[in-house]
Amino acid sequence: MSTTVQKAPRINSDEAVHIAADLYGLNVFATTLPSERDQNFLLRSFQSDLQGFHSDHNQQYVLKIANSEEALEMLGLQNDLIRFLADRKIDLEFPRIVPNGTGQDIATIAGKDGREHFVRLLTWLDGVCFAKVETHHRKLLASLGSALAQIDAALAEFSHPAAHREFYWDLRHADQARELVGLLPEPRRHLVGRFFAEWERIDWSRLRFSTIHNDANDYNILVSELPDQQVTAILDYGDVVHTATVCDLAIALAYVMLDKRDPIGAAARVVATYHQNYPLTEAEVDVLYTLAVTRLCCSVCYAAKQTRDAPENEYLNISNAPGWALLERLATLGMEWPTRVFRYACGLPVSKVASTRERTTAELLSSRQKHLGPSLSLSYQSPLHIVSGSRQYLYGADGRRFLDCVNNVAHVGHSHPQVVRAAAEQMAILNTNTRYLHENLIDYCERLAVTLPEPLSVVYLVCSGSEANELALRLARTHTGWNEVLVVEGAYHGNTSAMIDISPYKFDGPGGNGRPPWVHKVSMPDVYRGKHSGPDAGELLAGDVVQKARQLSDTGQGLAAFFCESALGCGGQIILPEGYLRAAYAGVRNAGGVCVADEVQTGFGRAGTHFWMFETQGVVPDIVTLGKPIGNGHPLGAVITTPEIAASFRNGMEYFNTFGGNPVSCAVGLAVLDVIRDEELQENALEAGQHLRQLLLQLQTRHSLIGDIRGLGLFIGIELVRNHATLEPADSEASRVVEQMKKRGVLLSTDGPLHNVIKIKPPLVFSKADAEFLVSSLDEVLQDARFIQHV
Ligand code: PMP
Repeated sequence: MSTTVQKAPRINSDEAVHIAADLYGLNVFATTLPSERDQNFLLRSFQSDLQGFHSDHNQQYVLKIANSEEALEMLGLQNDLIRFLADRKIDLEFPRIVPNGTGQDIATIAGKDGREHFVRLLTWLDGVCFAKVETHHRKLLASLGSALAQIDAALAEFSHPAAHREFYWDLRHADQARELVGLLPEPRRHLVGRFFAEWERIDWSRLRFSTIHNDANDYNILVSELPDQQVTAILDYGDVVHTATVCDLAIALAYVMLDKRDPIGAAARVVATYHQNYPLTEAEVDVLYTLAVTRLCCSVCYAAKQTRDAPENEYLNISNAPGWALLERLATLGMEWPTRVFRYACGLPVSKVASTRERTTAELLSSRQKHLGPSLSLSYQSPLHIVSGSRQYLYGADGRRFLDCVNNVAHVGHSHPQVVRAAAEQMAILNTNTRYLHENLIDYCERLAVTLPEPLSVVYLVCSGSEANELALRLARTHTGWNEVLVVEGAYHGNTSAMIDISPYKFDGPGGNGRPPWVHKVSMPDVYRGKHSGPDAGELLAGDVVQKARQLSDTGQGLAAFFCESALGCGGQIILPEGYLRAAYAGVRNAGGVCVADEVQTGFGRAGTHFWMFETQGVVPDIVTLGKPIGNGHPLGAVITTPEIAASFRNGMEYFNTFGGNPVSCAVGLAVLDVIRDEELQENALEAGQHLRQLLLQLQTRHSLIGDIRGLGLFIGIELVRNHATLEPADSEASRVVEQMKKRGVLLSTDGPLHNVIKIKPPLVFSKADAEFLVSSLDEVLQDARFIQHV
């Protein structure tokens, strides 16, 4: 490598113009383009080309004059590879190789110093280079991941003897850069030395090998103009080499991380889409970060060397300063955290589970029977022993992966590293209660309040959905001075005594004692089974609420509150018909009661179109209760109400909650809100949810067992019936479907008063591909002859 840069051709742009005319018959201007070892010129045509040659008036070209040390077979490799990729079905542009007047792809010229240089002409591709794009938004990063994945997937089939070479930019040979660390001043020498020590630990025998581009740096990535701004091409095949496939992605990541506020987050976005398009192996994911940092280290080492060898070549310094800034920043992160983030991006368990503490399933079961209250059930006929989670996946003790379609608690993804980190960092600093001033508490309450419409602005933080609804009940009673409560049939609002009292799902179910006298049920606003299904079904079904509210007020009993989930969960994934809450709330308020929206199952963007499910009904509740997804698994809940109701509650008795609103919980809550925003999870709920519902509707046309498909965003229900006229519930079939789906690696559950509704409410990172997998698995299960025989 030492003399290669010095042997770069020294052609000026006038000479390039002559070469273009003599070899290719082009009448052009030439502008120098940056290059490390070669010389490249952008050729732009005059109005007319010289006669006798093929011409394309608006076409621009790149004239590539190779280093005199460049072997002909290497240029042949590049040309073959470009043609190979251009022939594949890849969503990218590739340059065309233009032969010269005598039909050669590679011509020869003599340089001033008498050395021979090979010359090639490629068509120019339009676009902005990635380095010059001001903001690398999420879609752009995603498109880079899929672009590289497509190239690497295609190149897995490509072979060429010249690719099997020893090349100093091949990360396998980073030791060549490492030899140069002596050129760096301390403390930089030490910093780079530590990263190289990590590189040395890589076990290359565990990695896949193939021919790779090997230089997806930010000047080689071409991006289309706004508004779509997607990666359209990866340029410059001069560094192609046969090496560990994962190096291609690692190199791109090194440049993606430059100048980023959150370098690891940006890199993770590229990793995620790369993995979706061309799955990485676990061994590859685990070396990815080390390799990306190694590339940065190689760059700064070679730059130090090359600056000494050719101080006039500006290109050599292009990524030097940002590279150093990034290396210094990454040195503060440690090696484990970025790998965890990348593992998460690929849906792999974020941390490896220590096997020493594992007990067999049988041992766990028997101890559970002894030490846990027997009123607690286990999911599935043969219970699952889950040991880790990542994104929308759960992993069993046997290593099996399950697509979790039912856990709306792990809202932003199981074990999301940003949430885990927020909790761990705050836990290590301070955890107290809300009787002190703390930024986290105030920041969090402000952030929650801005998500809600006025006048909902006063926040109480609690530890669960049950506690939130308990408090809502107290607020309503204190504010109104009344006692009675209206609830929807089949509803569940929590596990405390008062919540069991207002949950028909419990008091009407096994072991229940029926409704207490102060609780009044209204019928479920179910357009599938209910009395009304037309356009005014919402208003008609709300008639029951209006009438019972009026009755309570007329009889002087007085209505404290109407509790209603913004979409019915335990009631069977029922979407409220349009106009239902508007009419119901009007009736409740006329009777002097307050309206409580239980958003424990439905909030935080799950609806897709709105952040809160009640917003889809065009109403503003008086009290909103939150739980489950709010802390992504950390015990957190919240009640948000109006200043007026909060003022009524200030009656002298303090409301204090030991754990509610502690700094750790608030840090977690803030991280969850950040992730929903940064990862555009509400938008994903809309898109993935729509896709899933469409696929399910297609499935319904083929399977008569499917009676109804309903949902909003990623809150979906499939109601199974034996007969479409009688709507006879297919309850045992629903349970069997759930069991069969588990066998295929998909976790679902059933609900609804008739136990025949399959619930779908996955973490919001659920993708369109997951939707396809879910529906094709369901198709198989429903088609399964054995299954049909048994029903
Ligand atoms: N409300 C609704 C609608 C719920 O689904 C639940 C829990 N399933 C609760 C309240 C109670 O929440 P938690 O279990 O966190 O107390």
